[in-house]
Amino acid sequence: MSDVNVVIIGDANAGIITANKLRMHTDNNVKIKIIGNSEKIYFKPDGVLIPFNDINYKETLKNTDAVLTYGIERIRALATKINPEDKYVSLDNGKTLPYDYLVIATGDRLVPEDVPGYNDDVYHYYDLNNAMKTKEGLNNFKGGKIVIGPASMPFQCPVAPSEFVFELDKFLTGRNLRDKTEITLIMPSDDVLPFKPVSDFIRNGFSEKKINFIPKFKDPVIDGKTKEITSGDNKLKYDMLVLIPPHKGQKFITDSGLADETGYINVDKFKLNYKDYDNIYAVGDAINFPFKVGALGHSEASYVANTIAKDINGNLTSDLYDGFMGCSTVFMDNSGFTLSFDYNSKPTVNYAGKTDYFLKYISANVYFSSILSGIL
Ligand SMILES: Cc1cc2nc3c(=O)[nH]c(=O)nc-3n(C[C@H](O)[C@H](O)[C@H](O)COP(=O)(O)OP(=O)(O)OC[C@H]3O[C@@H](n4cnc5c(N)ncnc54)[C@H](O)[C@@H]3O)c2cc1C
Repeated sequence: MSDVNVVIIGDANAGIITANKLRMHTDNNVKIKIIGNSEKIYFKPDGVLIPFNDINYKETLKNTDAVLTYGIERIRALATKINPEDKYVSLDNGKTLPYDYLVIATGDRLVPEDVPGYNDDVYHYYDLNNAMKTKEGLNNFKGGKIVIGPASMPFQCPVAPSEFVFELDKFLTGRNLRDKTEITLIMPSDDVLPFKPVSDFIRNGFSEKKINFIPKFKDPVIDGKTKEITSGDNKLKYDMLVLIPPHKGQKFITDSGLADETGYINVDKFKLNYKDYDNIYAVGDAINFPFKVGALGHSEASYVANTIAKDINGNLTSDLYDGFMGCSTVFMDNSGFTLSFDYNSKPTVNYAGKTDYFLKYISANVYFSSILSGIL
């Protein structure tokens, strides 16, 4: 059998799962190459625990080489252009890489510069360095007004801002600072989540913990001198501002003509392929889906790896992607709950317990041992 080249762009969550799963399902004539220049892979969901000393960042960081299965070639470079007609990827080292199948798994780009006034005194926890910086900021915090929220939609993990404020409430209570602190969560959307029963449940938690919630807080502008953040007529004073930067897809995807200026790729929601190309797929946050969630990337990567393997092995497939995701969420007082849904169902929640918080707490272990490796 002649060689088949599968090229995956993006060497983190969805890209690595695709590569590892595909390696399991295919023979050696299938050459799997993964493009990216990451030294380490970081489990981003722990960004809601690290600022509060709930977890040591070292437990949540691994060498990228160590999580890739034997038989996958790493191409240490960045992709600069995709050429769908001629089936090759251009790299920043001047080389090109031909493919038979291409999987794009390049995630998001944080663009704080899109918010007027965003400056070095503004915190966030959407990468490891900034989660550590937020931890330092919180350790020095002596009370006052904390405003937190995403600057715009979409952003990774729609529940991460709620998780942060519940963790913050617990952290401040433990330091006897809760009575001296006003916590306000701002959201650009109409509600916490687009699922009313779950939003109701979370908002009840905000009321119980005296956390202010302001929806429809769009297009924020920051004034670092007066320490104010404004959306339209709504002006909030802050002593500490934790603003999740706007998200976009990667610019080279726009430059390649595969996406508009947002950088996110439109795919067939049941097949995950790009337009009428049956050899170009996208997985994870690179897709133009409203939810940017690692658990979704996991199920997408599993589906695409399976589809490509079946295609190469000559097996007919009529499987359609079902949009499944399941993920544990932090709630108040060391409790949590787990949401799961797909294209045909909506999530709901009735109860938050300690077991689900524990599930969240050990997620990095499950992730590195079983999910990234392709076992789950
Ligand atoms: C604070 C926080 C909490 C979260 N909580 C949860 C949670 O509880 N549950 C959950 O399921 N998800 C959660 N998420 C979301 C989850 O982490 C992301 O959805 C997931 O990491 C996206 O995976 P990805 O592979 O699509 O993108 P990424 O993990 O961002 O990986 C993209 C990779 O592509 C590489 N890349 C980019 N451009 C190029 C290029 N030009 N060439 C080559 N490589 C390139 C990058 O270097 C990176 O390695 C959370 C995220 C954050 C920030």
